[in-house]
Amino acid sequence: MVTFEEARAIILDNATAVGIERISLLESVGRIVAEDLVAPWDLPLWNNSAMDGYAVRSSDYRDGLRRLTVTGVINAGSRADGIAVEAGCAVRIMTGAPTPEGCDAVVPVEETDNGAGEVLLQAAVKAGQHIRVRGEDVTAGTLFLRKGARIRPPEINMLAGFGMALVPVYRRPTVAILSTGDELVELGQTPGAGEIINSNALSLAASVTECGAIPRIIGIARDNRECHREKLQEGLRADVLITSAGVSAGDCDLVRDVLAELGATQLFWKVGIKPGGPLAFALSGTTPVFSLPGNPVSTMMTFEEFVRPALLRMQGEERVLRPLFSVVMEEPLSKKPGKVQIVRLRLEKRGGCWYGRSAGNQQTAILKTMVDAQAVALLPAENSGVAAGDEVMAHFYGNYIERE
Ligand code: AMP
Ligand code: MG
Repeated sequence: MVTFEEARAIILDNATAVGIERISLLESVGRIVAEDLVAPWDLPLWNNSAMDGYAVRSSDYRDGLRRLTVTGVINAGSRADGIAVEAGCAVRIMTGAPTPEGCDAVVPVEETDNGAGEVLLQAAVKAGQHIRVRGEDVTAGTLFLRKGARIRPPEINMLAGFGMALVPVYRRPTVAILSTGDELVELGQTPGAGEIINSNALSLAASVTECGAIPRIIGIARDNRECHREKLQEGLRADVLITSAGVSAGDCDLVRDVLAELGATQLFWKVGIKPGGPLAFALSGTTPVFSLPGNPVSTMMTFEEFVRPALLRMQGEERVLRPLFSVVMEEPLSKKPGKVQIVRLRLEKRGGCWYGRSAGNQQTAILKTMVDAQAVALLPAENSGVAAGDEVMAHFYGNYIERE
């Protein structure tokens, strides 16, 4: 048996990026930049006005001039070539229009009488005011997006600003999802006596999609060696293989055995966690194989704590763990020392502080409390029980968003 921390370290050591591709800018949202990106030009590319108003010389204002002759107009999209602001003059200018020669300030229209032939300045003018200077955002030749950065709308805006229609990103790994068990029927069939629907495959596929990878549900391996062999071989053609169930110590638990027959190297089996203890991890060549326990809560929790970080890392993400925060428990939690306990919580925020309660029944086949959970607490192995008022460390579960 390995500890929670050892299991994570082994997994992350063996999760490496699966490759790079160049994709269209709009497709790239949510992906990770695969190369350091250098600015091809200055941003902005030319000095321009930050306000609708008048381009002026601040020295005129300092010299006591308040009324200036308006000698021209520059709209956004026009050019300022051949236009200059002479002493005692102003040029009417719009936001985003290039500033003309000679001016060193823009006076917002709201600080003037909005005159056409002449304009009256009604407020003090400082050199440089309301002018966006070439390169003040990003200078040509500097690094503007680091390899490993996640592309969000602000990154898209900047990439577009630099004319980058194609972006180098890490490829999304394909993830084969294999269920095992004679009791399973597929969604759409009505389960008969002793049968249940293969719900793990669907929830795993959803989780894989949620972390940006590509799920491929490959069906069910029945509880015999031939079927396991055939299905596991199929699964090993993906970048990652996830199996569910058949990994404990039962008579029909064949996954680890058959993986070994197929040449996979097991790096660990059994982790000091609850739920999810029977988790196994193997490598077939460089393909990571996660054998998750079959009880749906164990399947989902081991995915969350071990598979998700690996899939993120394989897509180039450096920070793959959800941030932990402190939660004050409002009720006790029972726990024996020895294993990390993963507890489903409901949260409440009061006075800037998080308070938690158990989401309810914590058994591994209870789905309702998975649905209800807003966070999960990770109680350290040595912890021997939580009293009301104790602080525990937790992370949000799923896409929990705080209500107003
Ligand atoms: P096992 O590890 O094969 O003994 O399975 C453990 C438990 O998980 C049993 O109650 C199974 O019926 C259940 N289980 C296994 N596979 C799935 C699945 N694909 N979807 C939902 N429950 C499952
Ligand atoms: Mg089984």
